[in-house]
Amino acid sequence: MTGSAKMPVLFLGHGSPMNAIVENEFVEGFRKTGRSIPKPDSILCVSAHWETRGTFVTAMEKPRTIHDFSGFPKALYDVQYPAPGSPELAGRVKSLITTANIGSDLSWGLDHGAWSVIKHLYPYADVPVIQMSLDYTQYPQYHYNLARELAPLRTEGVLIIGSGNMVHNLGLTAWDNFDTDNYAFDWALEASEKMKNYILNGDHKSLINYQSQGRAYNLAIPTPEHYLPLLTALSLKEESDSIQLFNDKAVAGSITMTSLKIG
Ligand code: ZN
Repeated sequence: MTGSAKMPVLFLGHGSPMNAIVENEFVEGFRKTGRSIPKPDSILCVSAHWETRGTFVTAMEKPRTIHDFSGFPKALYDVQYPAPGSPELAGRVKSLITTANIGSDLSWGLDHGAWSVIKHLYPYADVPVIQMSLDYTQYPQYHYNLARELAPLRTEGVLIIGSGNMVHNLGLTAWDNFDTDNYAFDWALEASEKMKNYILNGDHKSLINYQSQGRAYNLAIPTPEHYLPLLTALSLKEESDSIQLFNDKAVAGSITMTSLKIG
């Protein structure tokens, strides 16, 4: 990536950690997306799996690969994603965000919300990656506004990725139907359709006010962490940006893999 061309912004539905090591249409979708955009100089990822009190960015030179899940095969624990960090980008984020004090973190690393998808975009781990945490004490509008302040990074060769799942209710997951193609409960389908309409119509207000969208939405978003990275990505959409949906399918009834390329 050279010059001032604007990088797209991605929202990636990461789903099961197993997507890191299996072959399926979703990982093919990630790969295709990686090939369709300019190679970034660095990546900033907001993952559903890093929640903190206050907002932090990882600032170490060499982030460790965090295996933040349990009960999976050894092959998944053996995965290392040795992308370098970027203390420089961490510093840039801290200087760009003026409405909050962003802390430097030297102990996190890359959680599976980041590495399980970024490894398909950049399998050689040759693009530096930092993460920015989700402040669990804050409201949806806060996350949206905070991410907006990152907009200048798009012309500085930085790929911004939100990694979560738009519909994500693990308590209601139909594990028996995990391998059934595009298997969705009625409420999951309803919430997903509504979200996609809001996204494509640019109705960010309704997406931010997700808590007042009724029963289907409440079931789709029992906790905010997998949904908020969507707001991160959408906040960076500019008028001239188009939106492309991909991996737009449901898994096991209560999870959607729907992902976005913005710009
Ligand atoms: Zn997750």
